[in-house]
Amino acid sequence: MTKTQEPAVLPDQPTRLETDGPNAVGRMLGLLGDEWTLLIVQQSLRGIRRYGQLMDALPISNSTLTSRLAMLTREGMLERHVYQDKPVRAEYRPTPRTRSLWPVLLAIWEWERHWVPDHAERLPSMHHDTCDADFAPVLGCRSCGRPVAAREIEAEWGPSGSWPRSVPEAATRRRSDAEAVGGQSGLFPDTMTIFGNRWSSALLGAAFRGLSRFHEFESALGAPPTLVAERLKAFVAIGVLEPVESLGRADWVQYRLTEKGRAFFPVVATSLHWAEQWFHAPEGPALLQTHRTCGQDYVPFFACDRCGEPLAAADISIVPAGTAATTPDEESR
Ligand SMILES: [Zn+2]
Ligand SMILES: [Zn+2]
Repeated sequence: MTKTQEPAVLPDQPTRLETDGPNAVGRMLGLLGDEWTLLIVQQSLRGIRRYGQLMDALPISNSTLTSRLAMLTREGMLERHVYQDKPVRAEYRPTPRTRSLWPVLLAIWEWERHWVPDHAERLPSMHHDTCDADFAPVLGCRSCGRPVAAREIEAEWGPSGSWPRSVPEAATRRRSDAEAVGGQSGLFPDTMTIFGNRWSSALLGAAFRGLSRFHEFESALGAPPTLVAERLKAFVAIGVLEPVESLGRADWVQYRLTEKGRAFFPVVATSLHWAEQWFHAPEGPALLQTHRTCGQDYVPFFACDRCGEPLAAADISIVPAGTAATTPDEESR
């Protein structure tokens, strides 16, 4: 006998958000701004279904894994499926909203591989089966098909957009902001400095939107000055922002995105797209993005840098260092 536990939300349909509540961006950051959640999602997309397998695959404690699986089930990201009654054994299957996260994980993988040198050797290669080559993903615009850079995308708030509504509510009440800095497992170190803190991701979003001065960050985010100072310092430390003194005004330091900072844009673009796909505010989208070059709505996609074809989850294999290609999860095809 098998049975499936009903999650609180329908996993294959967008969540309807409350009027004036957290918007799609806030909900996405609350969910994905957690290293363990990202790691469990990553394992799930590779076909890992069972508790014991997850314990083997990740440097995670029992209590943390139990709480994350409960949260992911409640949020409609995993479906708990009992496959044996005595004793009870369950597996956790990725739902469509989890399956559609693969571009975000691909973007994180590419960025960490390129910009976090100590980390690069621990990451597997990715193989594009269509052209039979190891590849890097290239971010493009689905409307015109061309590659895009961060500066070509114009973003403005949509009907449900504002800074206060975009700051995440934690999906799990688990730790202070200070503990989250730099990640816990060390598997996505720099990504977690940006993503794993409720103010960091908002601050990076502000930098992408052209804000550069301390007081601009402070007033846009409505964050306490000490927090803004601490987050700016952390971003400068990992080389995502650089301080630039304005001519003759030592007190007017500007913080500009570095090349490494701008290269994080594919993670931002794909995670924002996922957010708007799965979380619908009654007022409308949180963010409206336009590709300046073609003038159309910006929808991200990834192409293969070797053959130029659009990438699909089904055509990507993970190649662990020193071994032959293995095919990821059949079901995520
Ligand atoms: Zn375009
Ligand atoms: Zn290719």
